[in-house]
Amino acid sequence: MTVRQWKRVITGFVVLLIITLGATAAYAEVRYQRLATEFEGEAVEESADSEQNLSIDYQKKYDNLYVQNDFEYKEAQDSICYLTFDDGPSTENTEKILDILKKYNIKATFFVIYKDTEKEKAMYKRIVEEGHTIGVHTASHDYEKIYSSVDAYLKDFNKIASHIEEITGEKPEIFRFPGGSVNSYNGAVYMQIVSEMMRRGYTYYDWNVGSGDASYGTASKNWIVGNVVNGVAKEGSNIILMHDTNAKDTTVQALPEIIERLSAQGYRFDKLTKEVKPVTFSYLS
Ligand SMILES: [Zn+2]
Repeated sequence: MTVRQWKRVITGFVVLLIITLGATAAYAEVRYQRLATEFEGEAVEESADSEQNLSIDYQKKYDNLYVQNDFEYKEAQDSICYLTFDDGPSTENTEKILDILKKYNIKATFFVIYKDTEKEKAMYKRIVEEGHTIGVHTASHDYEKIYSSVDAYLKDFNKIASHIEEITGEKPEIFRFPGGSVNSYNGAVYMQIVSEMMRRGYTYYDWNVGSGDASYGTASKNWIVGNVVNGVAKEGSNIILMHDTNAKDTTVQALPEIIERLSAQGYRFDKLTKEVKPVTFSYLS
């Protein structure tokens, strides 16, 4: 081959090489674009998925279940007793309890459940009108139902909270878990319920003095008085658990003696408000 022919061959080879490289680059570009699109597609799908997992439906429900929580807890006060009555109102005993509290000019706290006879509705009203605190204890007090899920708890809470507000005009801001915040029914949902209720501004209270009036059978008056009087401590606040149902006659009978004996020892009585630092149970204690 002549030099000229060699030049043509080489030129041809170079041109072919450039075309091949160009085509490969173009293919690679297209391939890359496709991959990038696929990847983005996946990423978009994935984030849609995780968003779905994070968005908890119950947080979007019950628009009325919010209260202000821009307060600071008051320092726990020494020698103070907070009498708390769970499970009311009752047709027989709420009235008697309120009469005793009135006689001694003492304010207390009632964690109530859902009742709708005229007498019981009048009791919700009287509790509020006489300056006591009304708190939520759940509508049904049915452990298996309310602790089956956070949503079930909220649905039940909403029922009693709206009932109280409708009857008394007052929106409850504090609550007490049936069985206390830590019990054998709510281990699976307890943390989620607590965080959801705190997000909504509510405060809950357990207790540090048990009156023993919920024990099986009827607790004697003296047994109840003894549990409370021996259970309180001078330092810090005492949150005393008692019950307000038709069966708890001995609680009513014990009340005047509890008030008199503790007053004589220098204790004061007051109602719980959301500014009172809560006493709460813990799995670790
Ligand atoms: Zn209860």
